[in-house]
Amino acid sequence: MFNFSENGFFGEYGGKYVPEVLRTAVDELESSFYKYIKDKDFLAELKVLQRDFIGRETPLMFAEKTTKLLGGGQVYIKMEGLANTGAHKINNAIGQVLLAKKMGKKRIIAETGAGQHGVATAAACAKLDMECVVYQGEVDVRRQQPNVAAMELYGTKVVPVKTGSRTLKDAVNESMRDWAANFETTHYCLGSALGPAPFVDMVRTFQSIIGEEVKQQCAERNINIDSLVACVGGGSNASGFFAPFFDDLSIKLYGAEAGGTGAEIGHNACRMAGTAAKDGIMQGYKSRFLIDNDGQAQKTSSISAGLDYLGISPQLAMLGKTGRIKFDAIKDDEALAAVSFFAKNEGVLMALESAHAAAYALKLAPSVPKEKAIIINMSGRGDKDVFITSPVFRLEEWKDFLRFELLRLDKNMNVHEKY
Ligand SMILES: *Cc1c(COP(=O)(O)O)cnc(C)c1O
Repeated sequence: MFNFSENGFFGEYGGKYVPEVLRTAVDELESSFYKYIKDKDFLAELKVLQRDFIGRETPLMFAEKTTKLLGGGQVYIKMEGLANTGAHKINNAIGQVLLAKKMGKKRIIAETGAGQHGVATAAACAKLDMECVVYQGEVDVRRQQPNVAAMELYGTKVVPVKTGSRTLKDAVNESMRDWAANFETTHYCLGSALGPAPFVDMVRTFQSIIGEEVKQQCAERNINIDSLVACVGGGSNASGFFAPFFDDLSIKLYGAEAGGTGAEIGHNACRMAGTAAKDGIMQGYKSRFLIDNDGQAQKTSSISAGLDYLGISPQLAMLGKTGRIKFDAIKDDEALAAVSFFAKNEGVLMALESAHAAAYALKLAPSVPKEKAIIINMSGRGDKDVFITSPVFRLEEWKDFLRFELLRLDKNMNVHEKY
């Protein structure tokens, strides 16, 4: 394993800033994680789940047409979106749920925003036979019904959180509260590479399978990497994709953040690109946050629900500060254009989050030498975004579809009847 924190810190960022009631829980998790991550039986079981349940390894696909069209470096796509449940999040969920089981826990709780991490955790719990409760802001429960429905199908209880802005950060707070009260039986499966130690090390470690596979796939096929590009929300897919390459300075690392509709505060979710973010301590860790002078959360905005969290992995914040990772903002319309581009030219429907990385790669590729490769991490597939992309690309047809769907349900017609 590589690049573990120093007592939970990455330079000045990270840490374990938890209230006394959570101290025992995080300490127990810390010692268990560092124990099991070296345990042969644990790793062997994890490997079987990665292969048979997640569907690893995921392909590294040569984007041939894209490469020809751009005329620069060879463009490759790491197809994490082909993983079970449609994104990289399952890598972390299955790792943590298996660990919790080894620790003797009976119950898993998780926070979710758009519902992607909730779906992954729910699926992992169904597979490993664990009770699962997911906290989701009431606002998100209403607007993310397809994922709520999936979680319930997996047998998970979704609890709407009615405090604060009733979105992701409130769901995190509620999960922490539950964990503090129930840690003897319960593990809190946090969804990104952030939060108090040991979550950053743990989530990055479970996600590092992405980068390890890329390393091996490139070695087998003599692919000479120039640069890696990932989208950055909390930072879990980027951390796992980059981690095996952190120390190889010949490989450039690029993080694409949500540029939203523009550079003004409140119109994007840029913690590293731009100058709006501040150092702060929130939700158990020190990092860069979109907060105001009083430490209150700023509004964030992005077309992709997975990229609009106000904090970022403390390790990525540190690596951004030292210049190891270069961050840039990709706007909503650039991400949408990248979704179209890769669907038409490669037959690959990217998640809107991943499309931020893809859009950045489209700009970068022409300046990369022809004999070298630029690899995009396609963190997820775009099926989940049909409610967002369809109204953009074909508004009238989509409205018509929704109207008739409602009519069909109101009239109690079965799915085979014609309206
Ligand atoms: C959640 C999500 C992200 C953002 O989360 P990270 O922790 O930054 O990886 C990116 N892509 C997809 C498909 C997601 O579901």
